[in-house]
Amino acid sequence: MSDDLARILTARGYRLTAARRVILDTLSESGEHLTADELTEQVRQRSTAIGRMTVYRTLDLLCDLGLMRPVYQGTGAAHYVLMRDGHHHHLICTGCGRVVEFDECALDEAHEKIARRFGFEVEGHLLEFYGVCEVCRSKAAAN
Ligand SMILES: [Zn+2]
Ligand SMILES: [Zn+2]
Ligand SMILES: [Zn+2]
Repeated sequence: MSDDLARILTARGYRLTAARRVILDTLSESGEHLTADELTEQVRQRSTAIGRMTVYRTLDLLCDLGLMRPVYQGTGAAHYVLMRDGHHHHLICTGCGRVVEFDECALDEAHEKIARRFGFEVEGHLLEFYGVCEVCRSKAAAN
């Protein structure tokens, strides 16, 4: 994944600096949901030479390029997620807060329809379904 990110970055004319390399590696190895502060902390465990502003600016750049998106849940800091092939999907349990990732995507048709209607060129989407997970449902059933 970090190679994919690196390739896109350089294809768009951005230099793959040593700091960016470390940040991309950290992102791809540490799972997908990190706040900017969590990412900074993990990056600095690998290289204390990389400052907080560099991490923040790189995150901004990745968001500008559509490779990451901030996700806001509740009132806390945004979590940043990777947009694999332009999309990212969640099932979120309103009972326990569990977040499940899933790959299936049936939105291509909806993309086209909506894009046409608004004269929009869709580049990706972040999809979140809210509901109650299996564990919470069986707990509710047991009561
Ligand atoms: Zn649950
Ligand atoms: Zn996710
Ligand atoms: Zn999708």
